[in-house]
Amino acid sequence: MTYMDETFGKNVFNDFVMQQRLPKETYKALHKTIDDGRRLDPQVASVVANAMKDWAQEHGATHYTHWFQPLNSVTAEKHDAFISPVPGGKVISEFSGKELVRGEADASSLPSGGLRSTFEARGYTAWDPTSYAFIKDKVLCIPTAYCSYGGEALDKKTPLLRSMEAVSRQAVRILHLFGRMDATRVMPMVGPEQEYFLVDKDLYDRRSDLIFAGRTLFGALPPKGQELGDHFFGTIKPRVQSFMTELNEELWKLGVLAKTEHNETAPAQHEMAPIYSIANVACDHNQLTMEIMKKVAARHHLMCLLNEKPFAGVNGSGKHNNWSLTTNTGYNLLEPGDSPHESAQFLLFLMSVIKAVDDYQDLLRASVASAGNDLRLGGCEAPPAIISVFLGDELTEILEALDTGADYNGREKADMTIGVHVLPKFPKDTTDRNRTSPFAFTGNKFEFRSLGSSASVATANVVLNTIVAESLRVFADELEKAKDFRGALHDLIVRNIREHKRIIFNGNNYTDEWVREAKKRGLARLDTTVDAMPCYTAEKNIRLFAEHKVLSETELRSRRDIGLDSYAKMIGIEAKTMLMMAKREILPAVIRYTGDMAEAGNRVKGYLPDMPHEANDRLVKTLCEGCEALSKSIEVLETVMEKRPDGEDFEKNARYMLRKVKPAMTALRENADLLETVTDKKYWPFPTYDELLFNLKDGE
Ligand code: ADP
Ligand code: MG
Repeated sequence: MTYMDETFGKNVFNDFVMQQRLPKETYKALHKTIDDGRRLDPQVASVVANAMKDWAQEHGATHYTHWFQPLNSVTAEKHDAFISPVPGGKVISEFSGKELVRGEADASSLPSGGLRSTFEARGYTAWDPTSYAFIKDKVLCIPTAYCSYGGEALDKKTPLLRSMEAVSRQAVRILHLFGRMDATRVMPMVGPEQEYFLVDKDLYDRRSDLIFAGRTLFGALPPKGQELGDHFFGTIKPRVQSFMTELNEELWKLGVLAKTEHNETAPAQHEMAPIYSIANVACDHNQLTMEIMKKVAARHHLMCLLNEKPFAGVNGSGKHNNWSLTTNTGYNLLEPGDSPHESAQFLLFLMSVIKAVDDYQDLLRASVASAGNDLRLGGCEAPPAIISVFLGDELTEILEALDTGADYNGREKADMTIGVHVLPKFPKDTTDRNRTSPFAFTGNKFEFRSLGSSASVATANVVLNTIVAESLRVFADELEKAKDFRGALHDLIVRNIREHKRIIFNGNNYTDEWVREAKKRGLARLDTTVDAMPCYTAEKNIRLFAEHKVLSETELRSRRDIGLDSYAKMIGIEAKTMLMMAKREILPAVIRYTGDMAEAGNRVKGYLPDMPHEANDRLVKTLCEGCEALSKSIEVLETVMEKRPDGEDFEKNARYMLRKVKPAMTALRENADLLETVTDKKYWPFPTYDELLFNLKDGE
């Protein structure tokens, strides 16, 4: 047996294990549930539960938990031991089908956005058999969805599963129009690339901002940043490599397809990309990846930072959400085909995404909104807050030729009537990749690059699946009625190119010209979370989510409110942390240093009374002035914090934090960072950027 045979999926109750351990009939019945979403018979559940329990105990598990993803970005678990008392003071191990399938979670302190009133605090968890159960820290974890008593989704998985159904339903309608009757299901596939920073734990422990806010709230830039580009794809330092090696091993044991690892653009920044899988599994695995990254880092005396912008002035971290649609017959619908028939079908699916992105730019932006990610979007490093689609020159030329009815003047000349004659061969491998685009077509998938590094990928994929489902629904409605399918298809594609080409942009997204051009094109520009979150309850978006039965108006409102509330709370935490550090660490340290310098200056003056002593005088004066300015900005921040509203109007609260508190934080930081550059290193109360970003020396 190879190392990989022994390691991969070792702690997963996967299909291989099920086949070995379940009676044939049970295995078949369970597969009907997994593949076709059929209801699970209680008797079958009971046999599965028993096999799962035996397997888990043989692998050292003592507890089980319904593992779910509440409406913040973490996962929740409550452990129950497999024990049941019997007469005589002993226990036997028990785990029933009912316990596997459904759980009750009194989770009144998890965010619900008003969906679950405290008097009805109970929520219910329901097994998602399409994502394998696994063992983590001696606990059998059963991936579950989490709903209120009334059936409202209190989690991220439920709408994700609903959106997967929705896009499948509509895509199958289209495929049947193309005569692909063997397609009964279409699955969104997701490969999320995860970026992160590693910093030394001793240094981390000395910075309250990293501890409380997950990012630095102070810090002058070091003399060297990322300008030399010597970190990206650079040699991985031994200490980081040993972290990565262990991370891979832990992830493989959990069945996570960890594949690619490399250094990223900023110093101390890295990335891990798994092989893509079906959206809900990719999402579960990404949640696990983030958790395991933190745990493994701690074993190496490191801290893994998943915040979107841990350091000002250097690149932040995101997640690239690679997304495509695959049929149950294993066919990627975004793969340009060879035959005219396949090309026409490809064009239709491509168009469905372009239309979706154009019609619902606001929702895509809202789906990646958070206080942390706001700092990243809009900087010259990440995709901007304006959503557009990159197609590459060749594909864009083909669409333009279709639009104008002209010949395509690219590699080949051909009649451009879709489905009648040969379409030009589509580029199989798009090499002209544009790293500045928020939403890029990369050959056979789209890469949505705006997701924040700490966020669950569920939210963005719920939106993506639902908006594409809507385009496909509109297309299917029209084409199903058509008498001449080919003609109607051609007209539909050409009309949609015309209507939606404004969303296509192949240039540099970081420039001011693009910002102006996007405005001319009428594209949405939503710079902050406060601008973006209210979109969830815009009339057209409520209709969209209701049409596809993904989220009700109440469920949407709860997500909007939680988004705004978390934003306000996060800024509040950051402001309080800044005040604490400024008042209790920075100001006292600088005053001490100023005093010491004044005394030292006097001593020198006494020793050499006839010399000029301007250097020291100037320094003391600069320090004094700096302290005054710092102290004033502390007062300003304290005042705006005291006046902050905290009622039930979440938008008002969040907007106040954006408009009043954030500028006061920026001013405070500027004053503190200025002092850092003139204060003796030995006096500065916490580790600085140069130490945090460059201290992981080889061999440590
Ligand atoms: P790059 O950094 O060049 O974008 P990576 O190899 O780091 O490339 O990541 C590409 C990601 O896209 C991987 O997670 C990969 O599994 C995923 N991917 C590849 N093909 C598809 C597809 N058809 N659907 C969804 N994801 C895909
Ligand atoms: Mg990528």
